[in-house]
Formats: sequence, C-alpha cells, structure tokens
Amino acid sequence: MSARRHILIVEDDADLRATLVEQIEADGGFTADAAADACEAQARLADADMRYAAILLDIGLPDADGRDLCATLRRAGHRMPIIMLTGSHAEADVVRGLDAGANDYVAKPFRITELLARVRAQLRVFDNSEDAVFLVGPYVFRPSARLLVEPARNRKVRLTDKECAILKFLYRAGAKSVARQTLLHEVWGYSSAVSTHTLETHVYRLRQKIERESAQPRLLVTDSGGYRLDALPMAQAA
Ligand code: CA
Repeated sequence: MSARRHILIVEDDADLRATLVEQIEADGGFTADAAADACEAQARLADADMRYAAILLDIGLPDADGRDLCATLRRAGHRMPIIMLTGSHAEADVVRGLDAGANDYVAKPFRITELLARVRAQLRVFDNSEDAVFLVGPYVFRPSARLLVEPARNRKVRLTDKECAILKFLYRAGAKSVARQTLLHEVWGYSSAVSTHTLETHVYRLRQKIERESAQPRLLVTDSGGYRLDALPMAQAA
C-alpha cells in the first residue's frame, strides 16, 4: 500500500468539487476529501485522524472569504501548503491571498496537470521545511525534530540522524521498494565507504524502535532486495 497523501478541497461549486476529487485521486499519489464551505472545512481539519498534506481553497465560499479562512487556519497553527483557487487574475485578490498565508494560487479555469504540479512543488518545499509532518503507520513523523509520536499510545520515539534519513527517504519512495545500495548512497553519500552491513544494522535498530515485533516488521518491510515503508495506518493494517 502506498503512502498516498491526503488533500482537502474546499470548493462550493459541486461540479468542480466532484471533478477535482476524481482527477486528483486518478493521479495515484493522493487521496482527496472535499468540503463545500468554510464550516465543513474546519470540521474536517478538526478531525485528528485525518491529516491533510495540502489544502486547495476556493476564494469565494458561501459562508466565508477563502482568504479569511486561510488566515484563520494559519492562526490556528495549520502549516501545510494552501493553494488558493481564484476566480480572477486581479492582483489584489492574489496579493491578499498570499498575505493571508496562502503558498500559491491558481486562477480558474485551470488544467488539473498545472494544479497538481503546483501542489507537488509546494509539497517539495514543505517536506524540507521545519514544519514537515508525515503519517507513518501509527506515527506522526517530524523529521526536523527527529521524532515519531504515536498519539494512540501517547508515546514518543527519538531517532538518530541516520534513522531519520532512512525513514524520510523510504517515505518519499512511497509504495516503491528501495534497493539497499540506493538507500546507502542516499543516506551516507556516494563517496562513503560504508557497506550495506552498516545500513542493515541501522535498519535493525530502527525496527526495534518502531515495530510492534521487530522480528516481524510490518512497517519497514524487506522487499525484493531492499526496503519499503508500508505507511498504511496500523489500525487499518491490523
Ligand atoms: Ca466559489
């Protein structure tokens, strides 16, 4: 199962909303939820089980201005990329959207390929930022703090630099298995003389920290000569 990232679409136009959900999910890298107004968007964001990687936010909503909602979300501590869907190119619209804390904007009508390219670009920036948070099995993974938090058990797992780098690279690879040699080079650098044995030792320690039973890994699995992260939430995988 791949680590599909969740996108929240806030758009009151029912046809556009349905089309966006369908096209974003068809891309394969994302799952999408939709909200028809600001109130529903807030309710979805308050649901702690559903962490959104990014938000697509229409400016003209029936119960709020999307830019005001954006500012409210920022004040509430939501850090994920927010891309405004604007009905006009008018500069004031755009500037005020970005002032409100939006990361980017796309003017309607837009191509889904362009929208997804913007989403990916923002996610790349975000993933390397201090604010990045990923869902890995039952954990909330904060690479910048080298920390995994397991909310259900109120447990924290501290990672070493290398463990953090291994997890981050596997997360980025999604459902794909990463060859040991590739992972070794990515984490230790191409010029390093470190052998795959060192990598295996780090993976062994990492599994002891994150797996329920480290002898039977379900999260960091060995797969076709390499490793793969099965980032599906544990509740569903059980
Ligand atoms: Ca609208």
